[in-house]
Amino acid sequence: MKSDTMSQDKAKLLEELRAEIGDCRRCKLSRTRTNIVFGEGNPEARVMFIGEGPGRDEDLQSRPFVGRAGILLTAIIEKGMKMKREDVYIANVVKCRPTVDMAFVRDRPPDEEETAACGGFLKKQIAIIRPNVIVTLGNPSTKFLLGLKDGITKAHGRWFLYEGIPVLPTYHPSFVLRNGGDASPLKKDVWEDIKKVLARLAGEEKAELPHRAQSEVVIESPEEKKDDEYIPTLF
Ligand code: SF4
Repeated sequence: MKSDTMSQDKAKLLEELRAEIGDCRRCKLSRTRTNIVFGEGNPEARVMFIGEGPGRDEDLQSRPFVGRAGILLTAIIEKGMKMKREDVYIANVVKCRPTVDMAFVRDRPPDEEETAACGGFLKKQIAIIRPNVIVTLGNPSTKFLLGLKDGITKAHGRWFLYEGIPVLPTYHPSFVLRNGGDASPLKKDVWEDIKKVLARLAGEEKAELPHRAQSEVVIESPEEKKDDEYIPTLF
């Protein structure tokens, strides 16, 4: 059990980091944003979810994953993992909403310049929280943390290490919604990935991770998928 003092320290460090970001103008996304979306959750979280950047709802509310994709992520956490959303930590690679042609209408992934300007803040968040497991959601956050050549289709469900922390990439909830939603076969893939996270959390006291280079696969879990297996209702 982690102590309250440690939790307060982490909360304070996160507050200091937010203050360091301030009214940030380090990249062009500052010109269009309504709000900076720092991230939220338990400073002592065992699981950290990382997406690519805020969307419309997130920009308006200054909170990560509160739109349609956020509803799905929350369902994965609460219905699937049986955890409370406030017990995990949720953040993005960039803290301001990236949109196509800076028109603030259609979302897009952050570009290299924006990721380079903002990504250090996420790395500091991870260094403060030191979760037991990181789940990257989609390609941009997976590539940012792990530097993989493989896209999410190949990388999802495999374990990697970032600074000694096990990382499991899975599909971004928006991608699942865009590709069939409740009827999407990706829903089952996401649930299979999440089950690996739950298994690792359940057995983490026993599981010793080898110290290997960042980005290297540390665990492969080629579990057989059963077509009739129960999948929680996430939608
Ligand atoms: S995306 Fe990050 S670096 Fe760019 S303005 Fe926002 S907080 Fe600053």
